[in-house]
Amino acid sequence: MSFDPETIRSEFPILAAEVNGRPLVYLDNAATTQKPRQVLDASRNYYESLNSNIHRGTHHLARAATEAHEKARETVARHLNAASPDEIIFTSGTTDGVNLVANILTASVAAGDEILISALEHHSNIVPWQMLCERTGAVLKVIPCDDHGVLDQNAFRSLLGERTRILAITWVSNAFGTVNPVAEMTAAAKAADAKVLIDAAQAIPHLAIDVQALGADFLVFSGHKVYAPTGIGVLWGKREVLDSLPPWRGGGEMIKEVTFEKTTYNDLPFKYEAGTPNIEGAIGLAAALDFVNGLGIDEIHRHEDHLVRLAAELLSEVEGIRLYGPDGRAGALSFALEGVHHYDLGTLIDQMGVAVRTGHHCCQPLMARFGITGTTRASFACYNTPSEVETLASSVRKAATMLR
Ligand code: PMP
Repeated sequence: MSFDPETIRSEFPILAAEVNGRPLVYLDNAATTQKPRQVLDASRNYYESLNSNIHRGTHHLARAATEAHEKARETVARHLNAASPDEIIFTSGTTDGVNLVANILTASVAAGDEILISALEHHSNIVPWQMLCERTGAVLKVIPCDDHGVLDQNAFRSLLGERTRILAITWVSNAFGTVNPVAEMTAAAKAADAKVLIDAAQAIPHLAIDVQALGADFLVFSGHKVYAPTGIGVLWGKREVLDSLPPWRGGGEMIKEVTFEKTTYNDLPFKYEAGTPNIEGAIGLAAALDFVNGLGIDEIHRHEDHLVRLAAELLSEVEGIRLYGPDGRAGALSFALEGVHHYDLGTLIDQMGVAVRTGHHCCQPLMARFGITGTTRASFACYNTPSEVETLASSVRKAATMLR
């Protein structure tokens, strides 16, 4: 498929919907993306012709479902340039992946050790680390950001120290679209002998990811942010690191042998996949990544970059608007209208068919840093068009006059 947003839109049945008598303008992609036919077909096909529990069965369907599930793992590994599919652990999403890593690192952290996160983190890359601190007596340290929502790299380097055990950092901010220099930050943290986790929830739909080039220990994302179904996600972990860490959840599939006296654990990736997994989700995720690669992630990024810049340009003409985040945002643009509550603005432009997100975007500490309770956020995907950006800007302009 060549890169033509109109052709791409025709692959997404939901985009033909009308809302309040107006064509749907879906700009809430950072919350979740819509699903192309390729993904819907893969899910449907799974239940229509493959459905069976995997790994344990000897019958035909069980073998076919297992093969499709493991092929999906290979697709994910190729997409991330992982050294092996064994490094791909299927999870239920980013939140699940961070919790998994924070739990298996429990014994690697002692009282007084430090865990470094940033001011831009989503709650799911804050709370699991706070819980780890509660379990171990470790201390949470936070890399601050400036008034543009850019992390202070000098502060980062001075916070990195002998006691730093973990750097857990988002690649792209879901609230402001800031793209963090994760490769450089990873190199600095590795030089300080810390483990590094990258939250790629907002990177996966917009940026090419090469885990071997990044050099981190763990990277997590959710399928639903990249055109796949909900309830499926990925933890990539470096083999030698995952091999050296204990399992987390216990149950079927993650074992080699169970007696009442002792259990031995399975090899990667199964050691971290207890219980029946989201088989259809994994297959849907592979279809979604095939879809992305069919368009080309760099092409998608170029298109979205154009949309974000256009949105920033048009919205900045609205009187009393404040845009958050630096130039070069990936996929998302947050803004506020002076004298107007974000919830009122979001509700009013919904009446005009425009779907955006309002609120704290699961980043309450970041909102507190800016002295606000939330923003209005428009976020973009491969199927959005310049004309939708114009509708966004004219709707915000209209809402501003109505609400003031
Ligand atoms: N991190 C970031 C940067 C996110 O944008 C999100 C989703 N908004 C998450 C983590 C959590 O993802 P999920 O709810 O799919 O687990």
